[in-house]
Amino acid sequence: MAHDDPIPPRSAEEAEELQERLDPETRARRDAAFKVIRGYGDPVLRSRALDVERFDAALADEARRMGQVMHDALGIGLAATQVGVMHRLLVYRVDPDAPVATIINPVLEWASEEREPMDEGCLSLPGVLVEVERPVHVRVRASDERGEGLLVEASGLEARVLQHEMDHLDGVLILDRTSRDQRKQAMRALREASAGTPPLGVGA
Ligand code: ZN
Repeated sequence: MAHDDPIPPRSAEEAEELQERLDPETRARRDAAFKVIRGYGDPVLRSRALDVERFDAALADEARRMGQVMHDALGIGLAATQVGVMHRLLVYRVDPDAPVATIINPVLEWASEEREPMDEGCLSLPGVLVEVERPVHVRVRASDERGEGLLVEASGLEARVLQHEMDHLDGVLILDRTSRDQRKQAMRALREASAGTPPLGVGA
């Protein structure tokens, strides 16, 4: 299964091969998930989401639905803006066996000076993989879906996903955080991407 494999496909051929290995049910669920995930060009991806003020059943339901979309899309993170909801809410799951983490109104409290580059994909940017340099360690203050305070200390891939999703809540995309050359290539890939479900890769 794709989400057991942290290494994204290195080529279109490899992505296609991975895709064909998915069982029909997984593939159908993934297709359905990508119908609700907003893609490049949708203005919500460039908007700043608003603080959540009501921690009610509707919010818990929203978080649960987002977790399901992320799971079905075989992604490791999803921000509310990616499904058109202007709430500062994100979900992620780096370890496929762990429960989905729900993070609301996150604020970056601290980031390490140590940074590292890594290729990143995005569920909203089908077929795009660009190098993004980010702090290796972060500390984020947030709330859970009941409004209880949370302090998340994360490193490595978890820290990266958190920062990627927090960027989404501010309307920032990986295209804004990569080199000019890679941005140009990514824009070309986006133009050439055919309609339908994007190739498999690690996306958030
Ligand atoms: Zn993304």
